[in-house]
Amino acid sequence: MITMNEVWKTYPNGVMAINGIDIHIEKGEFVYVVGPSGAGKSTFIKLMYREEKPTRGAITIDTEELAKLKERHIPRLRRKIGVVFQDFKLLPSLTVYENVAFALEVIEESKANIRRRVMQVLDVVRLKNKARFLPHELSGGEQQRVAIARAIVNNPSVLIADEPTGNLDPETSWEIMRILEEINERGTTIVMATHNKEIVNTIRKRVIAIEGGRVARDEVKGDYGYER
Ligand code: ADP
Ligand code: ADP
Repeated sequence: MITMNEVWKTYPNGVMAINGIDIHIEKGEFVYVVGPSGAGKSTFIKLMYREEKPTRGAITIDTEELAKLKERHIPRLRRKIGVVFQDFKLLPSLTVYENVAFALEVIEESKANIRRRVMQVLDVVRLKNKARFLPHELSGGEQQRVAIARAIVNNPSVLIADEPTGNLDPETSWEIMRILEEINERGTTIVMATHNKEIVNTIRKRVIAIEGGRVARDEVKGDYGYER
């Protein structure tokens, strides 16, 4: 599903963020990416959704080698990968419904089909009753649930989450985790960068620890392994 082969990333300013990473993530896995600040976690996952390009090495998603992808095929990749951020990144002037519908890649899809799909994913995140609300009328947890709905509306094979609970209180964070687990149980591969020690040590999953731009640990049902 996701393979990195001898991947390196040096930013234009000379910072060496990723220094030779080899990993393989199978379809349907749930993986936490942990590590100290500045370790390279964000860069690691930005490489996966092609927000950054590697300086060296190959990254394959679903048999598609990212570096060989033509610009015009990037939308196709984006449909295979949903992304969720710490700060939600919703469009503030659009309703919940519109934020999700906006992300739906529709090729001459009927209004009824669009509505069915949007309401289906709003149901997954339990927000059907707030379809008409604007983002600022929602709690942080609800906004993150909208962002998750938007990320899965195209039925991607991979969901990437960069600190999805970073701005949320503990109770809301557990709620977000239940939803991510549900999405994972339906077959979507999940890669989640996190500093949430409680969650990693309670909901046990594969843990990839990045330190100094390298894989320091890769454990099945691993633990967080840092103080915080
Ligand atoms: P983490 O997510 O683990 O905190 P990052 O991937 O954000 O780590 O950062 C890894 C290193 O790369 C850090 O030294 C950071 O300052 C640097 N870095 C991150 N993004 C950029 C960028 N766009 N340009 C230059 N350096 C960057
Ligand atoms: P149901 O299938 O449950 O009857 P509806 O399609 O009627 O659902 O819509 C449920 C909610 O989504 C309602 O609050 C409705 O106003 C809202 N909604 C539906 N379509 C849109 C749209 N195009 N823009 C904004 N809100 C919408």
